[in-house]
Amino acid sequence: NKQVILKDYVSGFPKESDMYLNASGRIKLKVPEGSNAVLVKNLYLSCDPYMRPRMKQPIPGNETYIEPFKPGSPIVGNGVAKVLDSGHPDFKKGDLIWGKTGWEEYSLITAVQTLFKIHHTDVPLSYYTGILGMPGMTAYAGFYEICSPKKGERVFISAASGAVGQLVGQFAKLLGCYVVGSAGSKEKVDLLKNKFGFNEAFNYKEEPDLHAALKRYFPEGIDIYFENVGGKMLDAVLLNMRAHGRIAVCGMISQYNLEHPEGVHNLMTVVWKRVRIEGFLVSEYHHLFPKFLEFVLPYIKEGKITYVEDVAEGLESAPAALIGLFTGRNVGKQVVVVARE
Ligand code: NDP
Repeated sequence: NKQVILKDYVSGFPKESDMYLNASGRIKLKVPEGSNAVLVKNLYLSCDPYMRPRMKQPIPGNETYIEPFKPGSPIVGNGVAKVLDSGHPDFKKGDLIWGKTGWEEYSLITAVQTLFKIHHTDVPLSYYTGILGMPGMTAYAGFYEICSPKKGERVFISAASGAVGQLVGQFAKLLGCYVVGSAGSKEKVDLLKNKFGFNEAFNYKEEPDLHAALKRYFPEGIDIYFENVGGKMLDAVLLNMRAHGRIAVCGMISQYNLEHPEGVHNLMTVVWKRVRIEGFLVSEYHHLFPKFLEFVLPYIKEGKITYVEDVAEGLESAPAALIGLFTGRNVGKQVVVVARE
């Protein structure tokens, strides 16, 4: 059972060498008698930015919302897998599932409550790491539940070509909003404009003055900001919000590798522009998952929503794929294929 193991807690920027491949892991391909665990063969693994905070050494009294990984153990994340054996009445051999699994070929999953059964297989299975999985739900809950969007509003999305951002932009376009995204390369900017149908997009790395860039695309200001990056972008956005604007704080990836997060300087504008800033966690919206699938599947099948994935082949490519999220190496949702069936 090949496994990707976290060597030790990580500080600063993560490196491939913070993880290693253990090719001699052993696993019994049978659920132990009397256990309600599920034994799976992992097919697709998801690389997600929240996995970086899980690599940090916990500070007593300063715990975050999510448990740290255990050094010496396989990385844990979302994935798509096939059930090989099950002690749980809801799952049987041959079922396809997505949910929390290990970065390894086979996993014995005891936290069965984190698994979702896959019923729709006429779409790529890897989509359950992205558009039909956690990032898709994040885009859906964040946009519709937190942003209170209305037709015609002006929407700005950062990290816009990623797993979450590309969907938020397409949802906003379907609603009839004016949508602008920022991303870190020309290729990504082209995708935003030509594949996802954003009205405008810009490369934030080539803008010496983010405030001026936003003024250019939003001369009358921003109604909705879908925040994925934090730092300097947030400060520039604050100066460009319209009265009664909303900021959905989904994540702040620019801060995840910093030992001391940057300060925000322009918060006063929240008062005179009467802006609502609200953070959210997708884990509080699992109850919306069936409604979300019903909403998004027809759009996928009719080709009205597209989804771009960046697929890395093999478990051995997983460490590079994961740390690539923090340099913007991924173009679209970062997936790792362990096996195709
Ligand atoms: P992406 O697929 O967008 O990948 C991460 C991207 O972030 C990179 O490709 C890169 O794109 C950009 N990035 C990396 N470092 C920086 C930086 N220093 N400054 C600006 N941009 C940077 O990831 P996801 O779509 O999966 O996640 C997007 C955000 O959503 C993250 O903040 C994540 O933590 C958050 N999230 C929150 C959830 C919740 O429940 N609240 C659930 C899921 C995700 P580029 O080339 O454009 O720089």
